Amino acid sequence: EAKSNGKNQYQLFNEKMRLRLTARIRLEQDLKIALQDEQFEVYYQPKINIHTRQCTGAEALVRWRHPVNGFVSPDAFVPVCEETGLIIELGAWILRTACIKTRELQEQGYPGLNVAVNISAVQFTDGGLLPMVVRALEESGLASELLELEITESAVMHDPEEVILSLHELSEHGMKLAIDDFGTGYSSLAYLKRFPVNTLKIDRAFITDISSDNDDVAIVEAVLGLGKHFNMKVVAEGVEDEEQLNFLKAQGCDIAQGYFISKPLSSEQYNHWLERWPYGVQSGSVIRMPEL
Ligand code: C2E
Ligand code: MG
Ligand code: MG
Ligand code: MG
Repeated sequence: EAKSNGKNQYQLFNEKMRLRLTARIRLEQDLKIALQDEQFEVYYQPKINIHTRQCTGAEALVRWRHPVNGFVSPDAFVPVCEETGLIIELGAWILRTACIKTRELQEQGYPGLNVAVNISAVQFTDGGLLPMVVRALEESGLASELLELEITESAVMHDPEEVILSLHELSEHGMKLAIDDFGTGYSSLAYLKRFPVNTLKIDRAFITDISSDNDDVAIVEAVLGLGKHFNMKVVAEGVEDEEQLNFLKAQGCDIAQGYFISKPLSSEQYNHWLERWPYGVQSGSVIRMPEL
């Protein structure tokens, strides 16, 4: 009896695996179609200078509207794009779209806004990152100083020596570099002094309970101390209320991003938000015409 039971279990397991595999193959096919059919959209989540509350720019976040299943979270499809290599093409499209949008905003009266774009580890090791970024800047006419590339701490640590080389190349071209989700990976702090990084983004996990959790306070203070020492800006992610914002301000944090300021917005909504944001928008004069 135990034997037949085991057999059933095995068949059940097999069936589960088969379904999972089918779903995965379907998802990969849908993603390829999505790229052709332009089902992706870039959303923008505003960031503010904590002291003046002026908007400094936005983080570009990809969105997928599946024709049948509706909205799919990037956490559910970005990893699949990374595994299949589709992220190379999708990532290039996201970057180009974000650069063009930011260049358009300059012409609409917001010359000082920057844009931060997430870059996957796969894009870093692919070898074609620098030419791809340079092309996006040339096509859009956006100044390299207004583009920030975000890489997660774990992506950096995947192959630190290789990534350090890549970061130096990008930084020599004027792009800004940020370490995303800082504190959640396991970077050896010794590497920090070798990274030509401009910004540390404190992960949302440490901000959520900052008003009540002493451990989180200590972590945030430590990251702010590192930022100060290495002359890096510190961005707090996931700021959801005024208490958190005030706390971060008192601690000397530079920039905040989160639902308290705004959720990620469609391109059109971002314009509307900028028009209405009562504290204004960071000014700047770095407009550069595309080289013809
Ligand atoms: P991330 O780069 O750390 O982006 C921040 C995430 O936190 C976004 O989720 C954003 O919507 C969310 N968020 C911002 N403020 C708040 C808040 O106050 N409360 C809460 N609960 N959440 C907040 P999203 O857009 O779902 O993206 C998730 C992750 O997917 C990103 O984390 C990033 O790792 C990846 N991702 C998103 N867009 C792209 C992209 O264009 N390229 C690549 N390679 N990865 C992307
Ligand atoms: Mg990010
Ligand atoms: Mg993050
Ligand atoms: Mg994240």
